[in-house]
Amino acid sequence: MVIRRSTPSDLEPYKRYPVADAFDAIVIGSGIGGLATAALLAKYGGRKVLVLERHYTPGGFTHVFRRPGYEWDVGVHYIGNVRPGSMLRAVFDVVGDGGIEWADMGEVYDRIVIGGDSYDFPKGRERFRAAMKAYFPGEEAAIDAYLAALREALSGLSGFMAGKALPGPIGALAGPLLGRRTQAWARRTTREVLEGFTRNQRLIAVLAGQFGDYGLPPPSRVSWCTRWSRATTSTGPGTRSAARACSSTRSCR
Ligand SMILES: Cc1cc2nc3c(=O)[nH]c(=O)nc-3n(C[C@H](O)[C@H](O)[C@H](O)COP(=O)(O)OP(=O)(O)OC[C@H]3O[C@@H](n4cnc5c(N)ncnc54)[C@H](O)[C@@H]3O)c2cc1C
Repeated sequence: MVIRRSTPSDLEPYKRYPVADAFDAIVIGSGIGGLATAALLAKYGGRKVLVLERHYTPGGFTHVFRRPGYEWDVGVHYIGNVRPGSMLRAVFDVVGDGGIEWADMGEVYDRIVIGGDSYDFPKGRERFRAAMKAYFPGEEAAIDAYLAALREALSGLSGFMAGKALPGPIGALAGPLLGRRTQAWARRTTREVLEGFTRNQRLIAVLAGQFGDYGLPPPSRVSWCTRWSRATTSTGPGTRSAARACSSTRSCR
């Protein structure tokens, strides 16, 4: 795999370099998706892969930037469901050559603060359920319905994603079939789905409170799909082990 990068002093969004070699595959964009794809193609497909990146540093939303005394995550700052044995952990182990270390986020991985009130998100579905019910007495049925809907949507996630990834006519035919369990959910906004469970706006705000965290538009404008897909990959109540990655150049706090 070849990553060709420009230098921080380059101001142009694109830098032109001659590409002398021939490549079997070209991946445009070096975010976590592009790099994982390129690594898998190179390692298991035996392909010679070129990754093109327009930014001066690779990584997309996974990189950090620094100013004197400070370090910021551009995007990803924690990842869920990376306990040993999980599929996501296996993928990270493969593409990272087993070199990624993980730091547990602790018992509470998120805290939503609204005015003077704060709401902790403890890890583990049942602990999350109990915490929400304690914060919102009288909303037990809504909270159970929300978690049941998350579980239902998630159970069809792999088929839904596979349908999206299939090419051309095969995707057009098989996609709707593979994604049938989740498509109805995915076509509704997060606000629409949550208002189907409860009229309690504070509860809706708490359940949707991670949207700013992910740099997403408001729940009234994004698909419910963004909520349940996050629940597997990062911090949702389906998560049992939210964690952040550490490396020698990045401390875990
Ligand atoms: C503020 C914020 C916080 C987040 N926090 C988390 C979190 O804590 N946990 C989590 O799991 N997820 C989080 N996410 C979501 C996560 O960051 C993204 O889902 C994920 O990183 C996207 O990866 P990607 O490879 O699809 O795209 P990107 O990371 O966006 O990478 C795309 C790359 O392609 C490059 N590119 C684009 N067009 C071209 C072109 N024409 N030529 C060359 N290069 C090109 C871009 O410069 C970029 O480097 C967060 C997102 C945001 C915005």
